[in-house]
Amino acid sequence: MEKREELYRGKAKSVYTTDDQDRLILLFRDDTSAFDGRKTSQLNRKGMVNNKFNAFIMQKLEDAGIPTQHDRVIASNESLVKRLNMVPVECVVRNISAGSICRRLGVEEGKDLNPPTFEFFLKNDELHDPMINEYHIASFGWAEPTHVEKMKELTFKVNDILKALFLQGNMLLVDYKLEFGLYKGQVILGDEFTPDGCRLWDKDTREKLDKDRFRQDLGDVVESYEMVGQRLGVSFD
Ligand code: UDP
Repeated sequence: MEKREELYRGKAKSVYTTDDQDRLILLFRDDTSAFDGRKTSQLNRKGMVNNKFNAFIMQKLEDAGIPTQHDRVIASNESLVKRLNMVPVECVVRNISAGSICRRLGVEEGKDLNPPTFEFFLKNDELHDPMINEYHIASFGWAEPTHVEKMKELTFKVNDILKALFLQGNMLLVDYKLEFGLYKGQVILGDEFTPDGCRLWDKDTREKLDKDRFRQDLGDVVESYEMVGQRLGVSFD
């Protein structure tokens, strides 16, 4: 597989074209950012840890019947993925209140949400990813209604699979963000699933084990991501 030019550089990953028009390379960098890029840092080994963590989770999801863009790991911080036409919408499920929902609705952190909530956000850095609903997606043509239904169905299915997986490692899946794209007309899970895009708490102590460690200056960010992976059986050698 030949790596060609950089197609896109995000805040923590870079995307490269390859000699196969149906495949891209995702490069997980050591960069980390929060608060719309206002807080940034380089964290040693983060790219490698997130690449291997993501591959492990995507494989678990594939095994459980979720179609994902992941193909295979090709280097410690690089994976080959299917080239998707991304839908510019983020899907967020919350099992426990934390983060923006607390600020937006004035609720305390740590409340069990039963049933879990579902939110859409528009991917737009300049507008700070505003919350939108299905009518906005349809009216502005960001995705077909049947595709939006599929995204919701898959996002909730991921919740069942991953809540159970993290529970096996004595962790609570508090919330997470997914992104989808189209591949040959099918809705496929894209982007990544790592502690950068979800919240995970230790079940007994409720210690934060995800990117809130970076957002809130709690320290040991990469060490914590690695520990989460190890509790699930991810190998970082
Ligand atoms: N999230 C993300 N990317 C974003 C926004 C949110 O990965 O651009 C994740 C975030 O890590 C958390 C969940 O989505 O696990 C819900 O985020 P929230 O709306 O609470 O926003 P935040 O508090 O992260 O600003």
